[in-house]
Order: sequence, then C-alpha cells, then structure tokens
Amino acid sequence: MEERCVIIGAGLGGLSCGAVLARHGFSVTVLEQGNQAGGCLQTFVRDGLKFETGMHFIGSAAQGEILDTLFRYLGIREGLELHELDRNGYEIVTYKGQDFPFRNGRDAFVEGLVEFFPRQRDNLARYMDTVIKASAASSVESFNPERVMDPDDAVWHTRSVDSVIEGITDDPDLREILAGNQPLYAGVKGHTPFALHAFITSFYNRSAWRIAGGSDTIAKLLIGCITDAGGRVMTGCKAVGIVCDETRATGVRYLTDGGEDLLAADYVISTIHPSLTVGMVHSPLFRPAFRKRIQEMPDTIGVFELYLKFKKNTVPYMNANRFVYTNRSVWGCDCYTTDDWPRGFLYMHQWPQGDSRYADAGVILVYMRGDDIVAWNDTLTGRRGDGYREFKRLKADRLLATASEYIPGLREGVERYWTSTPLTYRDYTGAAGGGLYGIAKDVELGQSGRVSYRTRVRNLLLAGQSVNSHGILGVLVGSMVVCDSLLGNGVLYDGIRRASNDIEWK
Ligand SMILES: Cc1cc2nc3c(=O)[nH]c(=O)nc-3n(C[C@H](O)[C@H](O)[C@H](O)COP(=O)(O)OP(=O)(O)OC[C@H]3O[C@@H](n4cnc5c(N)ncnc54)[C@H](O)[C@@H]3O)c2cc1C
Repeated sequence: MEERCVIIGAGLGGLSCGAVLARHGFSVTVLEQGNQAGGCLQTFVRDGLKFETGMHFIGSAAQGEILDTLFRYLGIREGLELHELDRNGYEIVTYKGQDFPFRNGRDAFVEGLVEFFPRQRDNLARYMDTVIKASAASSVESFNPERVMDPDDAVWHTRSVDSVIEGITDDPDLREILAGNQPLYAGVKGHTPFALHAFITSFYNRSAWRIAGGSDTIAKLLIGCITDAGGRVMTGCKAVGIVCDETRATGVRYLTDGGEDLLAADYVISTIHPSLTVGMVHSPLFRPAFRKRIQEMPDTIGVFELYLKFKKNTVPYMNANRFVYTNRSVWGCDCYTTDDWPRGFLYMHQWPQGDSRYADAGVILVYMRGDDIVAWNDTLTGRRGDGYREFKRLKADRLLATASEYIPGLREGVERYWTSTPLTYRDYTGAAGGGLYGIAKDVELGQSGRVSYRTRVRNLLLAGQSVNSHGILGVLVGSMVVCDSLLGNGVLYDGIRRASNDIEWK
C-alpha cells in the first residue's frame, strides 16, 4: 500500500515536498488554509495587472547553477520563463544619494566597486572570497544539514554580518554599501549571522532573474506535478491538530466549510511557522522546554508594501532592484520613528506584461513593526475599518513622496496603487505577526536559535522557511533534505545529480 503523507501548508515548502514525494509513490495530500495555494508565491490581480506579493526575484538560475538544477529535478524548468537582470548592476544600493551597482560574478563585483573605492581593491576581493567561502560552507549549498562543519567555517554562523565586514574593510561607507542588500534577509546589526548574508549575496551574485508571468507560475507548476502523480492539494482546509499516539503522528485534523475532518497519515510534514506546528501537537513527546524554546524564538520584521500600477509607456523598465537608504546607515531601518520613516526601502519592477521597454507594475517594500498596526490585530483582511484604510493611505503617500526624491519621474508615472501591511501577510500566509522570512537567525542564540527538520514525533518532519533558510533556495533545499530522509538510499540526490552534471557536488 502507498504510504500516506499529509503536508500542512501549500507554500513553496509544502508544494515542493509534495511534488517530490508524489513522484516517488507516496500518496500525498497538501492541506492549505487559504483559498489560493502558494503562500508567498501568491499573486493578485488589479486593473488587469498581476502583482507578486512575496517572490520578486530569484538567483542562480542560469543553466547548471543550483536553482536551475533544482527546477529541472522538480520538473518545472520548462514551464518557467525567466528574464535575467542587468549583469552590470542587478542590484543598486543608493547610499548618501549615490548609486552603487552590484555586478554579477566575483571579479566584476570587485571591479564595479573599485570604481568608487580605488584603494579598496584588495579588501573587496577579500570580501568576495569570504562570501564565496562562507556560502559554500553553508548547509544550504552542501544540501546537508548534518554535514560536519569545518571548525574554521563555524565562525560564519557565530559572527554577525557587520562584524565580519568591519574586519575586512576600514572604509565606513564601503562597510555600509556591502551590507546594503540586508532587506533580502531582514538583517539586524550585531545579530544576523554572516553565513546568511554570504549565502544570499552569492546566490544573486551568480545570476539574478525575474519570473515572467509572476511567481504564482511556480506554485501552479508544482501543483501540476503533484496532481499528475496522483496527489492532491486541498485549499480552504486549515489544519488544526496533529493527532499522535505514544510514539508517532497518526493523522491531521482540519477544518473545512463542512466542519472538521481527519486525514490518516503515515507521515506528516508541516511547513508552516514552527510555533503554529508546536501548538497543534498535544503529545508529551514535545517537552515543555522544546515548546517554550520554539514559541520564544524571535521573528523577522514585517513589511508595508506599495504595489504600483504605472501609466502606459511612461516609466522605463528598470532591469535591477534598488535598495535606497535615506539615513546614514543601512542598519537600523527597523528602528524608525514616526518622523523618520522610511529610513530605507526596496524598489523593484515586475517583468512587463506588455512592451518590455516600459514597466507596467512595480513594488516598494519598507519595514513596518507590529506596534504600528497593533490597533487592528484582532481584525481580518477586508474588515479592518476606515481607520486602517486612512493609516495605509498616509503611509503610502509618505512612502511615495520619499521614494520620488530618489527615483525621478516616479510619482508622475504612477496611475494607481494598492497597499498591504504585515497583517495582510499574517492573514494570507499564517506568518506569525506577519514577519517577512519566519524565524530570525541570531548569532547570540547559537544552536538554540535553529529549528531541526526532525522532531521527537519521529514521523513528523518540518520544512518551510523557518527551518532551513528562507527564500526560494533556502526553502527548496530544506524540502529536499526532508524528502531525502523519507526516500533514503540516496535516491533524491541521485535524481538531482542526474538533473545536472554541471554542479560540483560536495
Ligand atoms: C514580501 C516578501 C518578499 C519576498 N521576496 C523574495 C524574493 O524576491 N525572492 C526569494 O527567493 N524569496 C523572497 N521572499 C521569501 C520567500 O517568498 C519565502 O521564504 C518562501 O516563499 C516561503 O515559503 P514557505 O512554504 O516556507 O512559507 P509560505 O509561503 O508562508 O507558505 C505557508 C503556507 O501554509 C499555509 N498555512 C498556514 N497555516 C496553515 C494551517 N494551519 N493549515 C493549512 N495551511 C496553513 C499558509 O496559508 C501558506 O500558504 C519574500 C518574502 C516576502 C514576505
């Protein structure tokens, strides 16, 4: 008989686990609380334009690179149309009013910044070498969370981004600029491990891409893989309990329109926020100390998002992402006051649906803390009232005014806009407090700040952005590790190797 695997959450984590396991003969059911599958891959349509909510660009997707290989292994590469960002400046950090482009490739990255910092060539080379070394040492790149780490490499997990960069260059401005991509991991000075910065920086430094047609394409393709292999994705089904006997999970209780139901399971994979998973397990196998540790882990900050519809053929398409800082530091953008918000923002265009010379949609992301929106904590999307609408309008006006100071023609180019807050994310993805990337990694917490994919309920496994790492690569690698533990015998890694011979496996 086929082994039954119930997966909680139909975001990237749940859908990728489902696609692999269904293909390998498991009877897969993915439960999704929302009416749309995809989690952060979801999109929404306004005025005929599709907007991406939580996956705006991806990296390492050129042929033979790590994400390309994973897409091929999953069987979704053919269905994706990707467009590469400008190799001479895929990311631009605007700091003290000047633009600093990040170029693809180690040498080009160094030379690009040497133009602004001619005396820093050696330090820039040392920075890139450190990024590459630390990234190669991470569990993400090695695909193995239990890999015994070289003691020399452990330091990347115990030292913060800023402290490592400070050890590389004494130029105060260059220190800031090198950390300018921190919104990609919600970096906190003194806390975020350099390992996270390194893996994300090197991921995009190899190559950076937009997904034509929108991020939901990935979700749709993965759902196709699951259903083609006989599995199913059930939307509108919120998991509320993981039923256990003395040693293992036996099923998942879930809510539907018709009431509560139970799905029997040989394996359960939960891809939602670990604190929510822990709350669903009423078994003494989860000890109080473990529950407390998980419940108390810090979350990443949330964002206010401004979705822009541009006037037709007005705003030239920008084939790069811009990190703009209005303050003298790229750090501490989360410590804003009412008066100096926003201290920084991330501005991106989507790949145009029409004439590719002009952008039709763009997005601005800016940090927003929970205390800004606490008044509406007990409300649900669409029913938060006039006060909330007015709050969003004021924030949108302020953000657009600030962004227009740095991006000429922006305000004039905007035809309409829509907004979301961390509460929107909380309600659409179940993210605790609406945090951007799930649980925050923190050098001060050491190993107790990490969530293992294995639990003391031996057939209950964890995946999703809080477990391994966030983002398309972090989540996919976490899913592969979980699936490998169920498939065994190196089946999964053999499959990935076959998908590409171009990657050097460690
Ligand atoms: C604003 C934003 C921008 C981002 N930009 C990028 C980017 O450009 N590139 C990149 O690589 N990454 C980006 N990320 C990160 C990336 O999108 C996420 O790390 C990743 O998609 C998370 O996938 P997941 O499956 O772990 O979680 P999610 O996508 O959150 O999926 C979890 C799913 O579980 C469901 N769920 C929750 N509770 C229950 C329950 N009780 N029962 C059933 N279902 C439940 C939720 O509804 C949701 O669908 C961004 C994230 C955000 C928020």
